[in-house]
Amino acid sequence: MNREKEAAVLSVRDALIKWYQREKRRLPWREEVSPYRVWISEVMLQQTRVEAVIPYFHRFLKALPDLDALAKVDDDFLRKLWQGLGYYNRAANLKKAAVLAKERYGGLPSDYESLLSLPGFGEYTAGAVASIAFGQPVPAVDGNVIRVLSRFFADEENSASSAFRKKYRRLLLETIPHDVPGAFNQALMELGATVCIPNGAPHCDCCPLKEGCLGRETPLSYPVKPEKKEKTTESYLVLLYYNRKGQLLIRRRPEKGLLASLWGFPMVPGDTPLAFLESWSEENGKPASFRGILCRHRHIFTHKIWEMSGVLMELKEDGAGENEVLANFSDIQTGYPVPSAFAPFLKETESFFVHKKFTI
Ligand code: SF4
Repeated sequence: MNREKEAAVLSVRDALIKWYQREKRRLPWREEVSPYRVWISEVMLQQTRVEAVIPYFHRFLKALPDLDALAKVDDDFLRKLWQGLGYYNRAANLKKAAVLAKERYGGLPSDYESLLSLPGFGEYTAGAVASIAFGQPVPAVDGNVIRVLSRFFADEENSASSAFRKKYRRLLLETIPHDVPGAFNQALMELGATVCIPNGAPHCDCCPLKEGCLGRETPLSYPVKPEKKEKTTESYLVLLYYNRKGQLLIRRRPEKGLLASLWGFPMVPGDTPLAFLESWSEENGKPASFRGILCRHRHIFTHKIWEMSGVLMELKEDGAGENEVLANFSDIQTGYPVPSAFAPFLKETESFFVHKKFTI
C-alpha cells in the first residue's frame, strides 16, 4: 500500500479519535459493551438506521440476553423477534453461530479468524466484534468507512469492487492504533453516519478530516459506484382464504429462497384470470368462493419488485394443507413471523374482519 496514504491516515488519526470521544452518540450497545451486545447490534445495524435499531435491540436483548439463550431459541420465536428487520437469514445465522461458538469455543471467540469462521460473520462483522469487544487491531470496513475514505482520497475507482474494499482494509490494517482499535473503527463509522453522510452534502466544516481531505470540494462525486441494475418486477395474486369464524389461512414459505420459512399466503402468478381462482382452489383442496380484490401492495426487495393484489376467497369448508394454518388474527400476530411484504394484507384483512363483525 502506498506510503503516502498511510501517512495521510496517520496524520488525522488522533484528531479523528478525539472527535469520536467527544461527539459519539450515546447508544445502548456503547453504554454497556460486551461481545454479545456488540455482535447483535452490528448485525442489526447492517439492515437499518441506528434510530430504528434501538427498539429492536432492546427487545432482542430482553428476550435473549446471552449466547446461551440465543443458541437454544425456537426458530419461529427468533423470526418473530426479527420481524420488521428483514433479511431473516441473518437471524438464522445468529443462532447457528451461537450454537457453533458455544460448541467450539465455549463462547464467542476473541480473535478475528475464529470469528470469521462462524456462520454470518463476514470480514466486517468479525472485524467489528474483534476490535470493539476484544480490542484486536483489525479493521471493520462498512459502507460508511468506504464513503469516508473514498472522499478523503478522492478515489475514482469503482467502490463496489472487492479490490477496492481490500485496498482500504490493507491500509487500515497498517494504520489502526493498537491501543484503541475499537474507538478508531467506530470513529470512522460514526463520521460516515453523522458527518460524511450518505444522502446529501456532508458537513465538512465540522469534520476532523477536513484539512487533508482531497474530495472536500466535490464530495458527492465519491464513492464512485457502478450503475445499478434494474430490478425485475413480478406480479402475484395473494390468496386470502378466510372463513366466517374470522380465521385466515396462512402458509409457511419454503425453507430456501426469498422469505424462507416465514409465514405468508398462497400466491399465484398475477396474470391468472380471476375466473379460474375458484376451480384452482378446488383442485388445491381449498374449495372457496371468490369475493373480490381487497387491496394492492408493491413490495420492493433489493433485487426485485413484487406487485401484489390481495384476493378475498371465502372458504366453503375448513381445511389447511401441509405447512398451512387457519388461525384468527390475534394468533397470527402473536405467534407467526409474517414478513413486511405480506403485512399490508394482514392489516387490510383485519379491517375487513372488523367490518364483517368477525371475532378476530
Ligand atoms: S471533509 Fe467532508 S468530504 Fe472530506 S471526509 Fe470530511 S465530511 Fe467527508
